[in-house]
Amino acid sequence: MEKKESRPIAVIECCEEIPCNPCMSACPHHAIVIEGGIHHIPQLKPELCVGCGICVARCSGQAIFVVGQEQDYGVVSFPYEMLPLPEKGMIVDGTDREGQTVCQGEILKVMIAKNFDHTTVVTLKVPLGKEDTVRGFRFREDR
Ligand code: SF4
Ligand code: SF4
Repeated sequence: MEKKESRPIAVIECCEEIPCNPCMSACPHHAIVIEGGIHHIPQLKPELCVGCGICVARCSGQAIFVVGQEQDYGVVSFPYEMLPLPEKGMIVDGTDREGQTVCQGEILKVMIAKNFDHTTVVTLKVPLGKEDTVRGFRFREDR
């Protein structure tokens, strides 16, 4: 079976119609638009998104993720505001939005940047297909 390759881009899972728009103003590529007033749900223009993760860090509702697939694994980036921070190469449990373990994953990247507004963006390598479900991680007890 030929494996799919799909570059990592933002996935907006913002469902509350609240007056909020830091995601839109944070994107340097104008890939996020909110049409019809600030209460409306933001939309992604996928062709403009480069998967940089700035919106992931800047979203006040922790509702944006960068999701994609490489040849034989999935990748997902999410905001992380706890300590200690994970380290590259660490094996962790990937968790869903409810905190339930979905699969094992490997920390690929831990991004800290000035324009990330004190939020770290963590990128996790997961089994192919799990990138659509994994939205965080938990340290393993045997680490
Ligand atoms: S990942 Fe980067 S380019 Fe894509 S929408 Fe977010 S800020 Fe814009
Ligand atoms: S910053 Fe986050 S919570 Fe606010 S509108 Fe954008 S996606 Fe929704």
